[in-house]
Amino acid sequence: MLYLDNSATTQVHPEVKDAMLPYLLEEFGNPSSKYYSKAENANNAVKDARRSIASLIGCNDSEIIFTSGSTESNNMLLKGVADSYKDKGNHIITSKVEHPSVLETCKHLELKGFEVTYLDVDKYGRIDINALKNHINEKTILVSIIWGNNELGSLNDLGEISKVCEDNDVFLHSDATQIVGKVKINLSDYPGLTFLSCSAHKFHGPKGIGAAYIRKDRYGILTKITPLFHGGGQEQGLRSGTLAVHNIVGMGKAAEIANKNIADNIHKLHELETYLSKILIDKFQESICFNHDKDNKIPGILSVLFKGVNNELLVKRLAPVMAVSTGSACSSSKPSHVLNAIGLSIEDVRSTIRFSLSSFIEKDELNIFKNL
Ligand code: PMP
Repeated sequence: MLYLDNSATTQVHPEVKDAMLPYLLEEFGNPSSKYYSKAENANNAVKDARRSIASLIGCNDSEIIFTSGSTESNNMLLKGVADSYKDKGNHIITSKVEHPSVLETCKHLELKGFEVTYLDVDKYGRIDINALKNHINEKTILVSIIWGNNELGSLNDLGEISKVCEDNDVFLHSDATQIVGKVKINLSDYPGLTFLSCSAHKFHGPKGIGAAYIRKDRYGILTKITPLFHGGGQEQGLRSGTLAVHNIVGMGKAAEIANKNIADNIHKLHELETYLSKILIDKFQESICFNHDKDNKIPGILSVLFKGVNNELLVKRLAPVMAVSTGSACSSSKPSHVLNAIGLSIEDVRSTIRFSLSSFIEKDELNIFKNL
C-alpha cells in the first residue's frame, strides 16, 4: 500500500526506533533523579536530544521545552502569553487557515474576554503583510501565524512577519509543525519570532512528543509565560511532568537525521512531486487542477481538485491501494476551513484530495497512478 498521507503523520525512521528501544528497556531511569547511572544516562540522553533539536532549528538548547506535541505547544504558548500579558492588552492576531489547535484556543480566549482578529489569506493561503500591519493596535499582545500550511503546503513570509512584529513590539508565535525537519530554518534569522511549535511525528519521529521554542531575551532569560501544567517544575517550570525519555530520544534522533539529510530530501521530494504532477496532468488533463502554489511551498504536499468527484468516496475507493486524505486529519469530518478561506466553492472543497509525500517513497511506486 502506497502511503501518501505524510502531512497527517510519518513512519518512524528505523534508526529512530533503534535509538528509542534502550530507553524503553534497560535505561528506564527518571532524568530528574540523581546520582545513580540510570538517572544520569536518562538525563544525558535528554540533553543530547535537546541539542539535536536546537541545532535543527537554529536556537539555544535551553530555549527548547518538551511537550506532547504541537497541539500542546500551541495551547501552552497562546494561553500562556494571553495570561501573562493580559494587563498589557487583550488583542491577538491570527489567520483563517491555522490548525484547529490554534483556532480553537483563540475561540477559547475570546470567551475569556480577548479580541481575536482572523486575517484573510490569498488564493494560496498566505496572509498579507500590510493587512497584518494595519490590524496591529496598542492592545495587540500576540500574533500567531502558521509557517507552512498543512493542506496546501504554502509558506508564509516569516521574515517579513517577524520584522513587523519586532517593529511593533508584539510577540510572534508560529506553528511550524509542517516545516520543521522538512525546510531548513535558522531561528537566529527571525529575531522577531519569540515562540514556535513543532511535533516529532511529522518528521519520522514518534507520536506524543514535540517542542515549544521560547526565545531567551538579551539577558539570557526565557520570555515569561504562564505554564499550562503546574507540578514538579520540569522544563524550567514551564511544563511539569516526568519527561518521556524514550520519546525525547526518538525526537532527537529524528531531528539529527532530518538535519543531515534536509537538502537531499528536498531534492528528492521535488523530483517525486514533479513526477506525480505530470502523471496526474497526463491522465486527468482538464478534469483536475492544483490548489497549491507550486513555486513556493513545502516540498511534497499537493492539493489536487478532481472536478465533480466526491473526495470522501475517492479516498475510500483508493484506500485498498493507497493512503491519501481529503485534508487535515484533525478536522477530516468537516469540509476544510483552509480551502474555504482560499475561496474554493463548497463543491470544490468536497472534490479536493491532499497527497503528501515522503523521502521513503520511490519514483516507480508513483506509477500506480497511471493504472487507476
Ligand atoms: N499544527 C499543524 C499545522 C499540524 O499539521 C498538526 C498536526 N496535524 C498540529 C498542529 C498538531 O500536532 P499534534 O497532533 O502532533 O499535536
